[in-house]
Amino acid sequence: MLESLIRVRDLLNPYAYLDVTVFDPSPNPWCGPNYAPDMPEALTNVYTSDMSVRYWDTEHVADWLKANGYAHFAGTMFAPRAIIGKYFQDSAKKSIACMNTFEYIREQATKVTLSDCVAVETPTRNYKFDYVVLCMGGATSSDPYGLQGQDKFFSTPYPLKETLSSIGADERVGIIGSGLSAVDLTLGLMAKNHRGPITLMSRRGLLPSVRRPPVKYSLQYFTVKGVEDIVAAKGSLSIRDLIKLTYRELDHAGASKQEIIDEVLSERYGIDRLRLQMARLDDGGIASQLCIKILATACEDAWYFLSCAEKKFLYSNFRHIVYSLCCPMPKHRAAQILRLADSGQLSILRGLRSVSKDEQGHFVAFAEGNSTIRFDRVFSAISGESRPSPLALPLIEGLLKTGQASPHPLGGLNVERTTSRLIDALNRPQTQIYALGNTVSGALYIFNGIFLLARRSAHVAQSIVEHQKATKTARHSPRSIYA
Ligand SMILES: Cc1cc2nc3c(=O)[nH]c(=O)nc-3n(C[C@H](O)[C@H](O)[C@H](O)COP(=O)(O)OP(=O)(O)OC[C@H]3O[C@@H](n4cnc5c(N)ncnc54)[C@H](O)[C@@H]3O)c2cc1C
Repeated sequence: MLESLIRVRDLLNPYAYLDVTVFDPSPNPWCGPNYAPDMPEALTNVYTSDMSVRYWDTEHVADWLKANGYAHFAGTMFAPRAIIGKYFQDSAKKSIACMNTFEYIREQATKVTLSDCVAVETPTRNYKFDYVVLCMGGATSSDPYGLQGQDKFFSTPYPLKETLSSIGADERVGIIGSGLSAVDLTLGLMAKNHRGPITLMSRRGLLPSVRRPPVKYSLQYFTVKGVEDIVAAKGSLSIRDLIKLTYRELDHAGASKQEIIDEVLSERYGIDRLRLQMARLDDGGIASQLCIKILATACEDAWYFLSCAEKKFLYSNFRHIVYSLCCPMPKHRAAQILRLADSGQLSILRGLRSVSKDEQGHFVAFAEGNSTIRFDRVFSAISGESRPSPLALPLIEGLLKTGQASPHPLGGLNVERTTSRLIDALNRPQTQIYALGNTVSGALYIFNGIFLLARRSAHVAQSIVEHQKATKTARHSPRSIYA
């Protein structure tokens, strides 16, 4: 957000006075929970080339990695997230130097109220600003079976360096969830020379798919403009339109539609599916890579235009598969997972129904068609990201109560697509309050990623600077804040 503000200020209104205050009580400023110091097994889930804080300058992150002794992570590579956290911190320091005034308040913002300005409350003080951008992230933990408070239960795998610090090498470990966090955790256990059995348990037993080799291709049809053109012509957008657009793109690129159909409709799961994906990895197929490009380029805009009923349909029936396909794990990780499964140490349990603790103090998991399995220790590796961060709740509830924001039927707050301005209870876009990321989950969010946030932050910055220029505010020092 800081980078985008500076860029847009310099382009549109170089004399604008940029006075920014950031509120965040996090012990790791600029890293949030996901890029804080941790074991290297907490790995980026996209190529580092997709993690630039400047969406218009993808080399920015590679330049930093090269200048700081991490050249081997630059480009189509994956890096420990803690290293990317250092990049974020360094970038923030440089951005701050380009502000007219800057302040970092290590407090939770508890309330935002709009009058002639935007008032922000923290537990100790009130502040006034011209604009507020909510970048509050999502929840970091989840507890689907009510195990919180039980000894040896962890509602999040992170930071791995803490959650794995007291584990016995022979303990039987159950991991609820079979996505990227479960993979981080499994490989974290292996790095600690864990000897005991590890079980990944979920409803569908679906692992992240394996990343295929990168493909150079510029989308021709499934772009934001392509989506907007359909809406302009028809007045609406449907799943059928999106399928047609996808097929058109795949045909144009000479990619196989069947590759995607097979992935989406496959009945295979767990290690069996992973093994097949590994076997097909170098078969020259490019459809999966193109679909990732489509998701990264235009999924938010396409999602925004779908009807609520179609969104709900996709959400309940295909979200798991989109997650598995959109952020595949690197080949070397998939190979590690396969080796571990082949050695008998790792298993994937499908159809998970419940996890509880018995009278002997063991965790007991029950899955459809399986007998019960006992564990000494259980982790929940289910992302809490679709729920707002607990820190954000008082602020969000306050905005909803006063009608300054409106709830989206699929969760989070309503925002305008092209500016990320909050939409109030009377369906009016607010000109002074914006939101990004998990806070707008139902409206825009399918999956979260720095490349999506970086691009949308540019829309926000543009809207702020244009509004500020147009209203020619009388106040000498317009201030913006970010929570
Ligand atoms: C385990 C995991 C791994 C991921 N890996 C990647 C990856 O490799 N690449 C990628 O592109 N994306 C990844 N993501 C997606 C990730 O969500 C985004 O990359 C990014 O962290 C989102 O940034 P954010 O600023 O929106 O939220 P966050 O990074 O969560 O930051 C939100 C911040 O807001 C603060 N906050 C919340 N409420 C308040 C309040 N009321 N007052 C003050 N402060 C507040 C919190 O303390 C927090 O520091 C990952 C997500 C998870 C869960």
